[in-house]
Amino acid sequence: MATDYDLITIGAGHNGLITSAYVAQAGYRVAVFERRDIVGGAVSTKELFPGYQVDLGGSAHILIRLTPIVEELELEEYGLTYLELDPMFVAPFPDGDVIYFYRDLDRTVNHLESLYPGEGQAYRQFVTDWVGFARTMRDVFLAPPSPLSIGKRMVQGESSSLDWQEELRHILRPYQEVLRSYFEEEKLRTAIAWMAAQSGPPPTDPLTGPFALWHPLYHEGGVARPRGGSGMLTQALRRHIEAHGGDIYTDAPVENVLVTNGTAQGVTVNGRSYTSRTVCSATHVKETFDHLLPDSYRPPEADGLRIGNGFGAMLRLALDEPVTYEVAPEEDARVGLQLLCRSMEQLRGAYGDHLSGRPSQDPPIIGMTFSAVDDTLAPAGGEVLWLWGQYFPYELARGDDWAQIADTVAQDLIGQFEQYAPGTRETIVGQLFQHPEWLEQNLGLFRGNVMHLEMTLDQMFSARPTFGASNYQGPVEDLFLTGASTHPGGGIMGASGRNAAGVILTSL
Ligand SMILES: Cc1cc2nc3c(=O)[nH]c(=O)nc-3n(C[C@H](O)[C@H](O)[C@H](O)COP(=O)(O)OP(=O)(O)OC[C@H]3O[C@@H](n4cnc5c(N)ncnc54)[C@H](O)[C@@H]3O)c2cc1C
Repeated sequence: MATDYDLITIGAGHNGLITSAYVAQAGYRVAVFERRDIVGGAVSTKELFPGYQVDLGGSAHILIRLTPIVEELELEEYGLTYLELDPMFVAPFPDGDVIYFYRDLDRTVNHLESLYPGEGQAYRQFVTDWVGFARTMRDVFLAPPSPLSIGKRMVQGESSSLDWQEELRHILRPYQEVLRSYFEEEKLRTAIAWMAAQSGPPPTDPLTGPFALWHPLYHEGGVARPRGGSGMLTQALRRHIEAHGGDIYTDAPVENVLVTNGTAQGVTVNGRSYTSRTVCSATHVKETFDHLLPDSYRPPEADGLRIGNGFGAMLRLALDEPVTYEVAPEEDARVGLQLLCRSMEQLRGAYGDHLSGRPSQDPPIIGMTFSAVDDTLAPAGGEVLWLWGQYFPYELARGDDWAQIADTVAQDLIGQFEQYAPGTRETIVGQLFQHPEWLEQNLGLFRGNVMHLEMTLDQMFSARPTFGASNYQGPVEDLFLTGASTHPGGGIMGASGRNAAGVILTSL
């Protein structure tokens, strides 16, 4: 039977676009339906205040730089320019210490050695010990997650330079313990732990060692930003797909997947049917299971998905002058991610608040001022400042709701930031607070989880989103899944989109 398309993708997040781009590049007829008015999902940018380009989701492009996606899809031909952030991270502390992490390992080691004698060499040891393991993890992320293929890669790939029992012990530990075993200096441990906490799990959970053991790869892929805003990645993908004959529809919410005799045959959008040989749902898996599939095909495991209770919130600020850090007034401090966490105790305390259903009273923050490297983001003399704080629950204790507390929490976040950069409040000319409920309502990130599902071992690899729907295969024939709900999870990486494209191309 003739169909309208070979592949219909539901949702134009970066993963859905990447899947579609590979399939379009292979010569197939592709359509993407996106319910919002722009493509990109949690990788999109809009001019929210005159002259200020505001990212609506992820901003720091780290993981995708460890993949071949940009080269394979020739995205630079479609308008993507990456700006390197070096130093990658800066951690200013109230006592005046300022730790920089540069892309270059030797430079970082020398800097740490000059601050804390012995700790530079400990850092080199940490990176050298774990870079092989981290590369193998990256390779596992870049392939569909069958237990056999993961096992093969883990056995045949590079490993750490420790003996296997010691390696396993580190992997099974909470990441705060991994860092304690390498570093004497609490401030260095805190800076690395605060980056490791970005995937969600706290530093005290067992089995989270890999979130810190991944750290060596920052020195391989670096940290980057698309010029013009994070959304320029997804705009380049859009251009790529259209240049290969694909159709992209925005303001086009898919109502349901058409299923006949257990096989997906297309979708319904605004009351009209579109047919296709394959369908790929790139939405949150809860949307796919609960809203897009006919009830009779909803898998029983759908009830067991752990979406968590939010973890972070983002305050987007437009400023009329650049940020100045009191203890780090130099320009370099505004380039990379600014790790504003005083101590491990602060990080653990913030998680404690979250567990009891309260917004953290003393949240660690990641500050971002990308106008320091990209003059297209703010008017001359102005600054964009993003403040990502953790931890903020979606569901609040004591019957509070976000509509009541959002303004106060946003003001508190500014107050917290002013401990590092006094006077910032007076320079604010525009503000958007993306609390967990905002993220659900505006970006479809259920319960405010920016990773879609909790990033814990029970929902990783072949168990993501469920054992029954892993390997990018949906619960009905010819329905495929991609996105942060699938292996290898959330973040701006695109590995899920690329892996799913491989599976779909084999099917086609
Ligand atoms: C505030 C914030 C900050 C972040 N910071 C970073 C960071 O700095 N670095 C990093 O690596 N990661 C970061 N992340 C995480 C990262 O951005 C996400 O994990 C990732 O972008 C998810 O991409 P995705 O393509 O898998 O899914 P999504 O971006 O969630 O895309 C799903 C798409 O499906 C669409 N959709 C849903 N239902 C339908 C329907 N019925 N019909 C049509 N379309 C539908 C949605 O509108 C959306 O466009 C951040 C996320 C947020 C929100």
